[in-house]
Amino acid sequence: MTKYFDRVLENTVIEPSPRHPASQAFVDAGKELDLKEMDFSRGISAGVGYFPLNAKGRLRQSSSVTYLHPLANLPRHLEIWTQTQAAKINIESGKAIGAETTRGPIHASRAVILTCGSIQTPQLMMLSGLGPAHHLKTLGIGIVADLPHVGEHLRDHVAAPIVWETHAPIAPWEICPFEATMMLKLVDDAPAPDVLFHFGLRIREKYGDDPKLSVNGPAVKASPNVTRARSEGQVKLASSDYRDHPLINLNYLSDPYDMALLLKAMRFTRRLFETKIFQSLCKSEIHPGPDVQTDDEWASYIRSVCETVYHPCGTASIGHVVTPELKVKGIGNLYIADASIFPAMITTNINCAVMMAAEKAADLIMA
Ligand SMILES: Cc1cc2nc3c(=O)[nH]c(=O)nc-3n(C[C@H](O)[C@H](O)[C@H](O)COP(=O)(O)OP(=O)(O)OC[C@H]3O[C@@H](n4cnc5c(N)ncnc54)[C@H](O)[C@@H]3O)c2cc1C
Repeated sequence: MTKYFDRVLENTVIEPSPRHPASQAFVDAGKELDLKEMDFSRGISAGVGYFPLNAKGRLRQSSSVTYLHPLANLPRHLEIWTQTQAAKINIESGKAIGAETTRGPIHASRAVILTCGSIQTPQLMMLSGLGPAHHLKTLGIGIVADLPHVGEHLRDHVAAPIVWETHAPIAPWEICPFEATMMLKLVDDAPAPDVLFHFGLRIREKYGDDPKLSVNGPAVKASPNVTRARSEGQVKLASSDYRDHPLINLNYLSDPYDMALLLKAMRFTRRLFETKIFQSLCKSEIHPGPDVQTDDEWASYIRSVCETVYHPCGTASIGHVVTPELKVKGIGNLYIADASIFPAMITTNINCAVMMAAEKAADLIMA
């Protein structure tokens, strides 16, 4: 896969994160707890350091910025329809031949490639009759192929924050409110770190008046997530109408492994506050606060505040729904190239892996 990592690097700019003083305190606190300072752009192992950031100047390099801007550099035959939603894949004699969209039909002379992401790729498939037959039947959708795993195996990096009030206001950050990270290996024989932290500089803007996590004064948070979370949820259709949002059940913490790791991670997180450097940054723990001590109290807190890190994947995975060549099983000329193909969680933030998968998909489809 290094070939595809290199290809992503040819197209995007990866810079070290800026170093906000509070982020630096988090990194130094990790070092006070005997973690090694890591350069995470060179590889992944337990330690503390900064996120490599895909940013040019102050602008994050999303795949759209990376591959589609500036428009003038795009091949002339590429036509992009913005503000257009695909409503259905058209399939004839077992082959994808195009799509119905809100701007009219599209005919595909070679292939249709789905890249709607882990929530909407399975939605579009199910709207088109590709999915679990029993579910489609209940909505009156004609079955084109019974693919029972479409929308299943939804995984994400489930996280839970500890929030501290700081002694002084937090100065503005430059690009992203998450600069520093920490990776821990809490299970001895884990193949790679099993917990990844986001150290966050933005609390009030994120949690607003949510009484579970709101803050009155300046604050920071450390939010560990389970890097290879095992809980699985589903995406289902609410109706046969493409305008209706799909039903998303993340089913967080349904696998006890995820809760066990978060419990350990939360206990480790609290140790940060005991370090000299963190004491100079933070005044007190606001959430959950000192009353939470036992495993039961921690578990109940984690259940009440657990949150997404926006890394859903796996809902049309290799093996279950697509072949290793990313072809949808049983349907001709239909490919998937987004986070829904991942058969397992990616240990770190997944965007770069999605781009790598898309680079490989381009090779496979052109072959
Ligand atoms: C707020 C936020 C912050 C994030 N930050 C990071 C980060 O710092 N680092 C990191 O590694 N990852 C981050 N991620 C995760 C990362 O963005 C995703 O993992 C990645 O974008 C997934 O790529 P994808 O191609 O699978 O789906 P997407 O990027 O979601 O692309 C799907 C595209 O399909 C379009 N679409 C959907 N349905 C239809 C339809 N029916 N018709 C037409 N178009 C459709 C959508 O509008 C979208 O443009 C973040 C995600 C979010 C939401």
